[in-house]
Amino acid sequence: MTGGHGAPLLPEHLQGISRVLVDASVQDSPLAERVRGLLPEPDWTVLTGELCELPDHGDRVLYLKEHKGRFLKPCPGTSQYRCCGYRIIHIGENCPLSCTYCILQAYFQDRVLKVWANPEDLFAELESTFGKDPGRRFRVGTGEFTDSLVLEPLTGLTRELVGHLGRFDNVCLELKSKVVDLSWMGSVRRADRVLPAWSMNAPCIQRDEECGSASLEERLRAARECARAGFRVCLHFDPVIHFPGWQREYGRTVEMIGDHLRPEEVAYVSLGSFRCMPGLKRIIQERHPGSRFIYNEYVVGLDGKMRLLRPLRVEQLRFLAGRLEAIGLREQLYLCMESDLVWKEVLGRTVRELGGLGRYLEARAFGAKGRGTMG
Ligand code: SF4
Repeated sequence: MTGGHGAPLLPEHLQGISRVLVDASVQDSPLAERVRGLLPEPDWTVLTGELCELPDHGDRVLYLKEHKGRFLKPCPGTSQYRCCGYRIIHIGENCPLSCTYCILQAYFQDRVLKVWANPEDLFAELESTFGKDPGRRFRVGTGEFTDSLVLEPLTGLTRELVGHLGRFDNVCLELKSKVVDLSWMGSVRRADRVLPAWSMNAPCIQRDEECGSASLEERLRAARECARAGFRVCLHFDPVIHFPGWQREYGRTVEMIGDHLRPEEVAYVSLGSFRCMPGLKRIIQERHPGSRFIYNEYVVGLDGKMRLLRPLRVEQLRFLAGRLEAIGLREQLYLCMESDLVWKEVLGRTVRELGGLGRYLEARAFGAKGRGTMG
């Protein structure tokens, strides 16, 4: 199927892009050429200097940028709480979906969709880091500053990335998303070194707070397709949100997981209660006046972030952990940014007993023998 001028029809969440900015240095790059073929109609502006004035309606503007900094970064975890120690491959910033709770709204100054259009520099940096130290394992992901796959139909970047990383046995890549795009699968050399991951939530939260995202059913069908192709998948209940009737809704989601996936097909499952810097509350109030969860009972934690009162948090996380354990996912569970005390109350064990969260997740990511070598 094609859109105007013979360009293929893009997913709905990309059809609103009305303007493209491109740095002069990358305007003829393969990535820019690919985007030009798919978005021939929007205004294209070539930038010869820095972007000084931020365009209005930034979320409709795609900026193909030459990234001059480092691409591989430590995850901006939180002091005082148990962090999982993985590294971010920085491929771009912002996201065309509009989840009401999205932390990126407070993290970045603008909403412009930025894609680094010099991936050869990215690949060179990764190759030098991963190749220099083949005995050291790296657990990496692209889904921190953007959704890993939301721009994939335009950029094709993940396809290229998995192809490049396939040479490194010591690297496991997680692709975290709220959309369904499996176009990268054919480029994977080792299915046991790529972890497709989807966010999970209550069905009503997906419907009301994750505008533009794929339904839970669609995400789980995609997860099953990956699992049947030999990948193990990850699931992230983050943010878990408190609302009247949450038990029924979250219980339903766990049932759906059990209907789609077998325990051995799941590498790990995270649970994280909604938390944010206080500044995000005002942004959510202004941009998403219909969202009610922001008025729940929050306290400010040791790291300055707002969190749900501990007893409520523990009750919710325990409920979810219990349901997930009942479908065989006990070994896979971990908590995001919680203290030892909450770990003990929710999962009955501490991070220390697991040998450290980073180590534990690394073992789970690399641990199980892959069921297939592709290609
Ligand atoms: S999918 Fe992720 S990055 Fe995109 S708006 Fe939602 S929370 Fe933010």
